[in-house]
Amino acid sequence: MTSAPPLSAVELGFSYPNGVQVITGWTSTFPAGSMTALTGPSGSGKSTLLYVLGLMQRHQTGDLLLHGRPVAGLSDAERARLRAHQFGFVFQDAALDPTRSVLDNVVETALYRRQSRKAAVSNAHTLLERFGVALRASHRPGEISGGQAQRIALCRALLAQPRIILADEPTGNLDPASRDLVVAALRKQAEQGSCVIIATHDPLVAQACHRHVALDGQQCA
Ligand code: ADP
Repeated sequence: MTSAPPLSAVELGFSYPNGVQVITGWTSTFPAGSMTALTGPSGSGKSTLLYVLGLMQRHQTGDLLLHGRPVAGLSDAERARLRAHQFGFVFQDAALDPTRSVLDNVVETALYRRQSRKAAVSNAHTLLERFGVALRASHRPGEISGGQAQRIALCRALLAQPRIILADEPTGNLDPASRDLVVAALRKQAEQGSCVIIATHDPLVAQACHRHVALDGQQCA
């Protein structure tokens, strides 16, 4: 028996409240164990698509299936629970909370999952070590570089070993060595069975992916 793919979109459509239609009749499937590069010019809808796939925005038409089940009828609370349990997110700007320490930023989502803080802190230290930012654990995000923030955001995304990872330009602020580390970590996560989707402009990142999905200006293809 083959299991349903973690994410699939069928004739998906999304527009912002101001009427800007960003995704139109878009169909694609993202299998487990694969890393997909989402490419396209600025404004083609990559970030928006990640928000929709990550249950942060609601599509208006078509279907979005999570492990084969439509998400359209789910309440906001159910969507939030699924986000906390199934997804890891790495945003373009790292999106760390400036009022909390790096360590607290990394373990924050564990609390939503009602996991023990002690175990989460131990896992977080292991990840911070692995990505060369362990010395920054007690710092605030305002005291670290953009590249460090990006690696810390990756630690946060990997903490729960999520089945789906959505990354928006995760290497944008990184030097080549850090970029390679991040890409290798995401690829390893895919090879261990996760579904990884990366919006990227970087051809080297795209090359490291197993699959490519290109979006053009008007309609996702
Ligand atoms: P990309 O990530 O490929 O640069 P985006 O998803 O950021 O593309 O943007 C796609 C389109 O949606 C653009 O035309 C952009 O101006 C528009 N857009 C993005 N965010 C919003 C928003 N919050 N409200 C209205 N329009 C938006």
